[in-house]
Amino acid sequence: MTADVLEIDDALAQFDPVMGLEVHVELNTKSKMFCGCPTEFGAPPNTQTCPVCLGLPGALPVVNARAVESAIKIGLALNCEIAEWCRFARKNYFYPDMPKNFQTSQYDEPIAYNGWTEVVVDGETYRIEIERAHMEEDTGKSTHVGGATGRIHGASHSLVDYNRAGIPLIEIVTKTIEVPAEKAAAVARAYVSMLRDLLLALGVSDVRMDQGSLRCDANVSLKPKGSSVLGTRTETKNVNSFRSVERAITYEITRQAAVLVAGGKVLQETRHWHEDTGITTSGREKSDADDYRYFPEPDLVPVAPSRDWVEEIRSSLPEAPSLRRVRLQEDWGFTDLEMRDVINGNALEPIVATVELGVTPAAAKKWWLGELARAANESGQDLDALGVGPAQVAEVQKLVDDGKLNDKLARQVFDGLIKGEGSPAEIIKARGLELVSDDSALIDAIDRAIAANPDVVEKVNSGKPAAAGALIGAVMKDMRGQADAAKVRELLNARLGI
Ligand SMILES: [Zn+2]
Repeated sequence: MTADVLEIDDALAQFDPVMGLEVHVELNTKSKMFCGCPTEFGAPPNTQTCPVCLGLPGALPVVNARAVESAIKIGLALNCEIAEWCRFARKNYFYPDMPKNFQTSQYDEPIAYNGWTEVVVDGETYRIEIERAHMEEDTGKSTHVGGATGRIHGASHSLVDYNRAGIPLIEIVTKTIEVPAEKAAAVARAYVSMLRDLLLALGVSDVRMDQGSLRCDANVSLKPKGSSVLGTRTETKNVNSFRSVERAITYEITRQAAVLVAGGKVLQETRHWHEDTGITTSGREKSDADDYRYFPEPDLVPVAPSRDWVEEIRSSLPEAPSLRRVRLQEDWGFTDLEMRDVINGNALEPIVATVELGVTPAAAKKWWLGELARAANESGQDLDALGVGPAQVAEVQKLVDDGKLNDKLARQVFDGLIKGEGSPAEIIKARGLELVSDDSALIDAIDRAIAANPDVVEKVNSGKPAAAGALIGAVMKDMRGQADAAKVRELLNARLGI
């Protein structure tokens, strides 16, 4: 019996991973790709359908212009060429979540192709080549009922909801990604995270990974160190968080390495990622010859965006993320190392949003990196899944600025926010965190400290004002940390006449 997986260091010592990433983005258009049905998430099943997206005989699709515009935006932001003329194609397959029995997609004529982008990992910049970004439509959603696992095996029946069928998708496909072996999984994570930020900045998707509006399929293969022969790849489907992208790829590297070291063969197949156990399991065996019988869609006219329109869209694009990062670092006065920590902690966007609410960059960084990113890391979550937003960080910082909280108490408020204990005000009340602002209570504590430390007072009076620090410490301890240290210093100085 051989091990199921190799240690990652062992695996990377013997093999170089080769990756390809396919990211599906659900666009935030008001209506579907080829009909006028609404696209809001969470409506009762099958209430957002019509003859077109149900594929009823005789129904004719019409392309959503806003979706084409979004596709061009994404293509331009990824430095792609934009096709002067391209067509949709039918991808034929039979599956219950596909009411038309084919998916309208693009095949050999994508709207955007030949692009590139960059990601930063540990201060190093890695270039990622983009093969293509094409338009297609989403499928419906199947729910398998009656089994223990929610999968079709063991289920007594299945339900299907076509509300999602026909929602516009852009599929972004990278060329082969080859980076230093030990960086591969982190580069993949950084790429998906960068895409999320980019798509948000473009305003083309709400990019909710937890609702499936950004999904990543990761192709991974291994080649022996020094070899130029590519190995057999697997495709891990629908990985739904940044952290999972990194974990799933790391797992596949260690699994395939164990297979190869034992003299086995990696099967070309799709695999399922299991968030709870951190492993992938075998899905459908896949061959390159999968025959979808693509052919040009006869019911849709070709898409031929005029060059004027493309240039107009280009001129409306927001600042490129890499340039924006340089500008923000200058505006904020962060060092290279601080900026690297911010990027690595996925805290850039939250800090931007918090600074926009009037918080200083230094304070925003302190809370997002020092408290929230750390907590997210400890609990194995993505930062935006913690349930704490820029507005709450700004609210807590305002309480600090107003002298109602100090940093130590603010940390406890954040702990309460993460644990879902309510608003900052509710947490402060329930946990009794308010600073003592009553001067007479502070002066009483100061008098107790002076009485208990005559030697310190003696030092201060003999011309060593720095010794007063010990008295401030005593007062803070007496007040169980619930005092504003600056205020205590002010009152103490007045009391001692310094
Ligand atoms: Zn419809």
